[in-house]
Amino acid sequence: MAKKTNSNSGPHCAFCGRYPGQDGVMFVPNPANDVFVCTECVEQLHFLVSQAIESEKKSVDQPVKSLDDIPRPKDICAYLDQYVIGQDSAKKFLSVAVYNHYKRLAQATDDDVDIEKSNIIMVGPTGTGKTLLAKTIARLLDVPFTIVDATVLTEAGYVGEDIESLLTRLLAVADYDVAKAERGIVFIDEIDKIARKGDNPSITRDVSGEGVQQGLLKLLEGSVVNVPPQGGRKHPEQKMIQVDTKNILFICGGAFDGIERKIAQRLNTHTVGYSNNKERSRVNRDNLLDYVAPQDLKSFGLIPEIIGRLPILTHLEPLDRDALRRVLVEPKNSIIKQYEKLFKMDGVELEFTQEALDLIVDKAIEYKLGARGLRSIVESIMIDSMFEIPSTDETKFTVTAEYALEKLKNANFETTVFK
Ligand code: ADP
Repeated sequence: MAKKTNSNSGPHCAFCGRYPGQDGVMFVPNPANDVFVCTECVEQLHFLVSQAIESEKKSVDQPVKSLDDIPRPKDICAYLDQYVIGQDSAKKFLSVAVYNHYKRLAQATDDDVDIEKSNIIMVGPTGTGKTLLAKTIARLLDVPFTIVDATVLTEAGYVGEDIESLLTRLLAVADYDVAKAERGIVFIDEIDKIARKGDNPSITRDVSGEGVQQGLLKLLEGSVVNVPPQGGRKHPEQKMIQVDTKNILFICGGAFDGIERKIAQRLNTHTVGYSNNKERSRVNRDNLLDYVAPQDLKSFGLIPEIIGRLPILTHLEPLDRDALRRVLVEPKNSIIKQYEKLFKMDGVELEFTQEALDLIVDKAIEYKLGARGLRSIVESIMIDSMFEIPSTDETKFTVTAEYALEKLKNANFETTVFK
């Protein structure tokens, strides 16, 4: 530690090295008059020590679960089944990954085997349930969980949010309990939007692409990161909190529009030359995503280091007519169940005929809206009845296909959805 004087001049702060009066520096009174610390460093130390004590206290309160208390992969999958239609492959991968995440947190540290985390990447068209899967998992778990959109992240110094800000959110949901946040799960949505654009990364600076991937890499591979507790650059004076990302599980999701072309190219170049036509025809061209492999993510523009840190690659299927029909009625909180509940609160039994349900699905397909459009279609159909019925004595209301079609026409649905 620095002493009262150094070769240059008089007393200076043993931590930051500044002299009294420099930038308004004041020393804490020191009767022994040998070692000096400035008031700013004392404040900073006080903050860090109280954070450490608080975090220690909280993690003692919430011990890591024993393996007996952890839901088994099949239980996790069964829970997901109640809310998410189809997507069996993604459900299986997620269930195992989350189970292993808990195992890693509970692992004994008395041997040389260190179970490393296996971050996940989910590839699938928009509106097929990636976010829904992540949200549903979060409901089941008792570890902090947050969803962030990769498109808002930028390299430090550019407009947007610093990469560390995704840990700010995790800290917030963990009540600023650092130890708890360090066992959390982060879902990074739209990871495909930070793919490198173009093949030559060195010519121009790619603000939203490769730089962000490089920044993310640090978090994915596990390192101690200084996190601004209030996030952003609006509070430059805030004191940083150190978060170790070694045990944070990252789940990434993205639509990767056009990746089928890369897959097809790879499959073609592979088959040509050393396999016969019979093998080539075994590839189901209708769902190329089934064959997605890490090298396709690379061709799409993710850097190899990021791909290496996302070792579990799974995909989501596009939702066909049958799946959309099931999405409408089957999940525990399906859209139809939600409207039935709304009507029930007014003492009205709501019913949709099979034909009406088919029509809703047909329209979602016709307008290429997918599962996300189902709600807006049902809302357009129901708005008039939700306005009228609470003021009537009716106790039952049936939505027929004719009624639904008329309401969609009146609502000018076609023009609304394409605006
Ligand atoms: P994305 O894949 O783009 O993240 P979301 O998970 O946000 O899609 O899906 C949008 C909405 O569509 C969900 O809130 C949900 O209502 C519905 N949905 C999508 N896929 C499914 C599914 N497989 N099962 C049930 N509902 C789904």
